[in-house]
Amino acid sequence: MTPSLIPTWHQLRKRIHLICFLIFLALPFCNVVRFDIPHQRFYFCGYELWINEFGIVFFALMFLMFLVVVAAVVFGRIYCGYLCPQMIFSEASAAIQLRLRRWLKPHQRLAGAAFYAVLAVASVFLAFIFISYFVEPRDLIRRLAALDIHTAAGVCGAAVTLLTFLDFAFVRLHFCATVCPYGYLQGMLSDSNTLMVLYSDPSHDCIECKKCVRDCPMGIDIRKSPFQIECVHCGECIDSCETILARLKTPKPGLIRYSWGVEGKSRFPVDAKRVILACVVLFYAGGLSLALSMRHAVLVRISPDRATLYRAGADGRIYNHFRYSIANRSHQPQAVVFSIRLLPEATLTLPLNPVAVKAGQTIEGEFDISAPSGRRGEFITHFNIVASTIPNTVTDVFPMTFICPTEAK
Ligand code: SF4
Ligand code: SF4
Repeated sequence: MTPSLIPTWHQLRKRIHLICFLIFLALPFCNVVRFDIPHQRFYFCGYELWINEFGIVFFALMFLMFLVVVAAVVFGRIYCGYLCPQMIFSEASAAIQLRLRRWLKPHQRLAGAAFYAVLAVASVFLAFIFISYFVEPRDLIRRLAALDIHTAAGVCGAAVTLLTFLDFAFVRLHFCATVCPYGYLQGMLSDSNTLMVLYSDPSHDCIECKKCVRDCPMGIDIRKSPFQIECVHCGECIDSCETILARLKTPKPGLIRYSWGVEGKSRFPVDAKRVILACVVLFYAGGLSLALSMRHAVLVRISPDRATLYRAGADGRIYNHFRYSIANRSHQPQAVVFSIRLLPEATLTLPLNPVAVKAGQTIEGEFDISAPSGRRGEFITHFNIVASTIPNTVTDVFPMTFICPTEAK
C-alpha cells in the first residue's frame, strides 16, 4: 500500500512538538521573550527593555495576554495538544519509558533505573532552559559549573530540577486534567464557534471497537461529550477511528473530526466577537510597535528643585536648582551634553558637562542655572534645557521655567 502524503494528526503533532521544542530551547538565547529578574530587564523580540519602561512592558504584556485569549476563543485547547511544553515533555517521557521497557524486556528493574537516570539528566537540562527565561544563560552556566546551591538562583535551580523530575516521572498529563489553569480558562472562553474535536454518528456506524478510547493520551471517551475538561484536542482519536474504518472499508472515512463548534461547521466562522478580539490584538500590537519606535536608548529626566524657588548669589546672579537622572539602556558608553535655549546670558553650572554614563548605568545629579537678576523682566521666564546624547545624536528638549525675585524687575 502506498503511504499517504498527507500526515495523520499524530504525525503532524509530533513534527510540531519537535519544532516547539527547538523554539523553547532557542527563545531565551535569542532574547525573543525573556525576563531577566536579577537585572530587572524584559527582553522582547530582540529589544532589551527596562522594567521601568512601563508603556512598552504594558503593551507587550497586554498583547501577549490577548493573543492567549484569542487562541483560546478561536482554537480551543489546540495549544494544549500541539504546543504546550507540559504535553510535549510528558509524552516524550512516557515514550522513552516504554522504549526502555521494550529494549530491556527481561530486565525490568534495569529498565526502570535507566529511565530515571535519563530523566534526571533531562530534568537538569530542562530546568536549565526554563530558568534561562529568567536568568541570563551565561550567568546560569557559571552558577551550574560552580554547583551553586547556596544563592537564591541556585536554590531555585535545584527546586525546578526536582519538580521537573517529579512532574515527568509521575504527574505528566494528570496536570492537564486537574490543576492546569489554561484548561479552566478555556472552559470559560470557548463559545459555539470554537474549534473542537467532535464525535458525530447520526447513522450509527460506530462498531464499538473503542480504539479511540485506548489511543487517547488522556484516557477519555470522546463519544460521551466534546466538552470534557480532560480533552486536549490532540486529534489522536480522529486518527484511530479513521484507521479502523479504513480497514473495514466502510463508506465513512471516520466518525470523529475537528469542527468549528458543536454544530459541525467545517469553515472558519467570522463573528462579531472574533472581529472585536482581532481589533483589540491589533490595537495592542500597534501600541507596542509605536512605543518601541519612540524608545530612546538613553533616557534623560530633568526636574526643577522647588524646595527653594531661587537663590540670590553673592555675584549678583539668581540661581535656580535642577535635578537630573540619566539611564543608559544601550550596550555602549554614552554621554549627555546639557545646554540652555531661550534664556539669554544664562549659565549652566555642572562639574562635568558632558556627563558620561556607562552601558546599563543609571546616574542622578544636580545642577544650577544662573542669570543676571537685573535683566529679568518677568517673575517667571519660560526657557528650554536641551540634553543631547552622544554618540547617538538624540536631542531631548525640556520646557522649564526660571524664577527670579519680582523686585528684580
Ligand atoms: S478525546 Fe481525542 S482529542 Fe481529546 S484528548 Fe483524547 S485523543 Fe485527544
Ligand atoms: S474508534 Fe471509531 S468506531 Fe471505534 S469506538 Fe471509537 S468512534 Fe467508534
